[in-house]
Amino acid sequence: MVDIQKSEEKTNLFDLGLEEIKQFFVEIDEKPFRSTQLVKWLYQHGVTDFDEMTNLSKSLREKLKKHVQLEALEIEHEEKSNDGTVKWVLRIPGGQLIETVFIPEADRGTLCISSQVGCALDCSFCSTAQQGFNRNLSIGEIIGQLWLANQRLGGFDKDNRPVSNVVMMGMGEPLLNFDAVTKAMNIMMDDNAFGLSKRRVTISTSGVVPALGRLQAHSDVALALSLHAPNNELRNELVPLNKKYPIEVLLPAVKSYLDASAAAKRVTIEYVMLDGVNDKIEHAKQLKKILHDVPCKINLIPFNPFPNSQYVRSKNQQIQRFAEFLVKNGFIVTTRKTRGDDIDAACGQLVGKVKDKTKRTRSIPINTVSE
Ligand code: SAH
Repeated sequence: MVDIQKSEEKTNLFDLGLEEIKQFFVEIDEKPFRSTQLVKWLYQHGVTDFDEMTNLSKSLREKLKKHVQLEALEIEHEEKSNDGTVKWVLRIPGGQLIETVFIPEADRGTLCISSQVGCALDCSFCSTAQQGFNRNLSIGEIIGQLWLANQRLGGFDKDNRPVSNVVMMGMGEPLLNFDAVTKAMNIMMDDNAFGLSKRRVTISTSGVVPALGRLQAHSDVALALSLHAPNNELRNELVPLNKKYPIEVLLPAVKSYLDASAAAKRVTIEYVMLDGVNDKIEHAKQLKKILHDVPCKINLIPFNPFPNSQYVRSKNQQIQRFAEFLVKNGFIVTTRKTRGDDIDAACGQLVGKVKDKTKRTRSIPINTVSE
């Protein structure tokens, strides 16, 4: 183990999970409860200047200054939509850009957080896929998005908590960045940090089955599944990860997660509505069949177009017919209102700016992806 007290290198505390922060305090010969005090300063009060951390002794503050750095993300660009949605383009070390979106509603404020720079999954209807994949985000780059949003929205004032919900639905596949994502989500939910309810932190996945099997033990959160098609043939085309984890493997894994989870009693099924592709009543009938024993609510997402996209958004009337069929058959169905599309902040429009992408072709990278 590196002797931190002797090491010249500084630790970025934002890049540590809660357990690791505790461990860090042990290594610098401090009591573990000191780490709780620090976590409160960082994540409850948004304070990064050690001199403002008044309940830490002068000598501890000096020690922290010597061994620790607190590297926050840099805002490259902030844009507000006509509907109140805010999009931040953030610069991360290495010069890459990632995107975070805040969506205010009457009864909640939802922050949509990215987990990777780009994405390796190549879903045919998603613009992030066209950017290719560059790298995973670190814990600090993930939790930093919530930190910055709070700072910009005045959320470190205890009487003003604009961000009530977090969805891991920005760029990337969160279950392919398992460690950093679960540790960051645990900071979101910890009472000494952001204190969000576990029912209000949602991980959204295309269906990385082995990682889903491990999720509950590491971080118990609400679950959304990007299903988008009611049969393997069509899903292979839209979400190529399906070739590795087909529907008959995926849905039982989702049910097992729900059984074990205290945060998720039902899964949110995300279903993008693509004109003439997956939006016919015949598809709704198939959906009814495969979901009959899955506790779920179905969220229909009108397709958001982007340059060179090969699909067209389903007509409103068709979305309504599709929804009505499912409702008649006992499902809870919502249609997502498209928010922030005037600033390219809607689902599937987040592209950031991926440099040095390792993948440019539209081939399926699934076997190169480790989980
Ligand atoms: N990889 C994860 C997280 C991304 S979430 C996942 O697949 O769930 C982003 C959500 O927006 C997913 O449900 C995704 O399928 C959906 N989406 C992607 N592109 C879209 C587009 N062009 N229009 C509407 N929804 C889209």
